[in-house]
Amino acid sequence: MNKVVIIGGGIGGLTLALALKQRGIAVTVHEKYDHQQHHQTGFLIWSYAIALLQKLDVPVHLVGTPLEVFEVHGRSGQKISEMPIGKISRSHGADSFEINRRRLIECMSDMVGDDLEFGHKCVSVENSKDSAVAFFEDGSSDEGDVVVGCDGAHSVVRAAIHPDAELKMLDAGGWIAVMDQHPPSLQKNRHMDFWQPGCKAGVADIGNGEARWYVGFNHRLPDDSVSKMEQIKKGMVHIPEVIQQCMEMTTELQMVSTKAGDLLALDPWYQGRLLLMGDAAHATSPYAGMGACAAIADAFALAEMLDQQTDVEMLLTEFQKQRKPVADAVIKESRHGLDMSTSRSRFRNWIRDWGLSHIPEHKMKEIVDEMVTGG
Ligand SMILES: Cc1cc2nc3c(=O)[nH]c(=O)nc-3n(C[C@H](O)[C@H](O)[C@H](O)COP(=O)(O)OP(=O)(O)OC[C@H]3O[C@@H](n4cnc5c(N)ncnc54)[C@H](O)[C@@H]3O)c2cc1C
Repeated sequence: MNKVVIIGGGIGGLTLALALKQRGIAVTVHEKYDHQQHHQTGFLIWSYAIALLQKLDVPVHLVGTPLEVFEVHGRSGQKISEMPIGKISRSHGADSFEINRRRLIECMSDMVGDDLEFGHKCVSVENSKDSAVAFFEDGSSDEGDVVVGCDGAHSVVRAAIHPDAELKMLDAGGWIAVMDQHPPSLQKNRHMDFWQPGCKAGVADIGNGEARWYVGFNHRLPDDSVSKMEQIKKGMVHIPEVIQQCMEMTTELQMVSTKAGDLLALDPWYQGRLLLMGDAAHATSPYAGMGACAAIADAFALAEMLDQQTDVEMLLTEFQKQRKPVADAVIKESRHGLDMSTSRSRFRNWIRDWGLSHIPEHKMKEIVDEMVTGG
């Protein structure tokens, strides 16, 4: 493989670029924004994906902090679970990290350097016999052995392959924000989740004196014409102390609206020399906290295949065969996560809370093992 053209400079596109450059394969990444516009949000990257980023020398400790304990609080605010994420992650070779997304993207963009072109919005893509070409809004184009669509949930590359594919919207959404201080009730290296009827909220230490927090509703969408704080006050059954502190320490402008959607049934992920990965191929709702991890794992698997396999059709088939079952499982897990954490059924919530607070140690280890290894 001589040259790979990557559309999208998010977590998937940048990981793919660094993994290919490490193997000596030429890349160009085209990002539609003319500078880093990633909002101040954060995410949790599990141990297996952190290990992959570390193989690329991404300094994750500068842009986030290891997660030690994930707390879950049940329907009436009581703590129902403390998951020992740090200990179990390290037993698999790498910490799981809570990360400031913008800092991570800035850092990886710097590492990609001159091979990243900002302000290059892709408007169409085309296959030719031995290459694929991407065309940009400014009239320029770029040709490679393959064009990889890492352009997220609303992918232009996907639209060329599957013009009728549409995200399935889940009638759920909310707000996520990063604050440059710690709410007093949040301990360092902790994530606290609150599962209430119709609503899930959470807050986590992301290092560098910052915290991220979110509130999401099920069967209710964020309304941009009304105060976000008022919507939270009206929608939550009760506001946990730490979320109240976050609300007091954050401005509405810092709160980014999100609406949950996913893309379960897309098949195939390629056509000729055009290929999709990350959210472009398998967008997921955020309730399993695994979409970015899946994009990182996609990038690694693809880089290895592009390095070793010269038959393009064979490698694209193999890539999908290897990654699609995992990606589909993440999407289903996330739908289940939404259902379980925001159920309105008193009976189901009682069973859930009782079950989670009585998990034996060996079973908890199994559950956390699965989360941190993406198994
Ligand atoms: C609220 C929320 C919380 C989440 N929390 C987690 C979490 O804790 N853990 C986790 O693993 N995942 C999480 N996710 C999921 C995760 O954010 C996504 O799965 C991940 O960002 C997908 O990476 P990607 O590179 O495929 O796409 P994106 O991150 O969306 O990047 C796509 C890039 O392509 C660019 N682009 C788009 N169109 C074009 C174009 N036409 N031309 C050029 N460039 C273009 C965009 O500007 C962007 O930079 C969360 C998602 C949300 C919404």
